[in-house]
Amino acid sequence: MLNRILMGVVIALLIVAIVPPLATHVHQFEWELVTPATCLTDGFETGRCKCGAKREHVITSTGHWFDNWIVTTAATCQQDGEESRTCTKCGYTQTRTIVAKHNFENKSNCTVCGTEYFSQGIDFKTAVYGQYTIAVVTSIGQCTDIDVVIPAVWKNLPVVIIDEHAFDDANITSVTIPQTVQIIGDHAFQYSSITTVKFAPNSQLTKIGSYAFSACRQLVSIDIPQSVKTIGSAAFDYCISLQQITIPSGVSVINTHTFTYCEGLQTITIPAKVWMIADNAFSSCTGLKSVIFESGSQLKSIEQTAFHACWSLQQITLPKTLTHIGPMAFSVCEALTSVTFEDPTGWSATYYSETISLDLSNPTQNAAYLAGIDSYANYTWNKK
Ligand SMILES: [Zn+2]
Ligand SMILES: [Zn+2]
Ligand SMILES: [Zn+2]
Repeated sequence: MLNRILMGVVIALLIVAIVPPLATHVHQFEWELVTPATCLTDGFETGRCKCGAKREHVITSTGHWFDNWIVTTAATCQQDGEESRTCTKCGYTQTRTIVAKHNFENKSNCTVCGTEYFSQGIDFKTAVYGQYTIAVVTSIGQCTDIDVVIPAVWKNLPVVIIDEHAFDDANITSVTIPQTVQIIGDHAFQYSSITTVKFAPNSQLTKIGSYAFSACRQLVSIDIPQSVKTIGSAAFDYCISLQQITIPSGVSVINTHTFTYCEGLQTITIPAKVWMIADNAFSSCTGLKSVIFESGSQLKSIEQTAFHACWSLQQITLPKTLTHIGPMAFSVCEALTSVTFEDPTGWSATYYSETISLDLSNPTQNAAYLAGIDSYANYTWNKK
């Protein structure tokens, strides 16, 4: 009996705890728009109930409702165009550029204007060059051509420079360089897989940077334009497949390591203007059989190890203007049997404090001095 009473009390208490009072007020808000939402900004409204309760409420912006893009100015081959679209809600008009584009089909000339094909997707930047604004090729970018054709013009600016490292390590087979390019930057094509480099006629190229084609191990041929005056250090070193190269007549120095390890080179002609062949310029050109100095050569100096380890070189005739040969210039030239000095007089060889006068009238003897064992190979040679 007592248990039943207790049970009844517990149940009554539970009912009181769970069921809310019967006369609870339910808010009835009347909303008032304070700030309407626009396409881009949120709006705001407030609600009031008769009881005095207040609520606030953000109305989320919807974003523009744009119509389709409409071309307002069509792009041509040279001139960018423009297109626009308008929001049907607020009337806002958005515009964007249609990039000028040639109509190249099958990588041949533009079907509209006839412009010669060039590769799409290459990256450029602008730069100030002297008093001009020019275009610089900065990288291969999105270009997927393996035979890269660099345009002469980018955004109405002449393409004058191929930047340092622009195509280094690029997986490309050939590159065609336009007439406008004057500088190929340092390391520009280093380690790339190019086999040939083509220059447009009347090339204005003046400089090939250091390491520009270094270790292009598949490079077979490059016809360096006659306009080139500077070929940087190591520009072609480790181009082991290079068969033939013509050094332009305006070049006056063959820089250090320029052709080191060009094992495929068999013959080289040194232009008359060259006065110095620098350290290691042709070292380890193991296939080099013939070094010809152009008539009228102004060569003064062959620096140390310049022709070191040219195993195939058998004979060479050195110009009469020559006054200096650095140590080891012809060392390890194992096949060298004849070195003719056009002017064999006045020469001496120095090693530390020791100086010995040399009679260089015997080409066979000279070869032994320069390349042989127990020779004067590691001496510095000077002519009075
Ligand atoms: Zn209320
Ligand atoms: Zn809008
Ligand atoms: Zn065109």
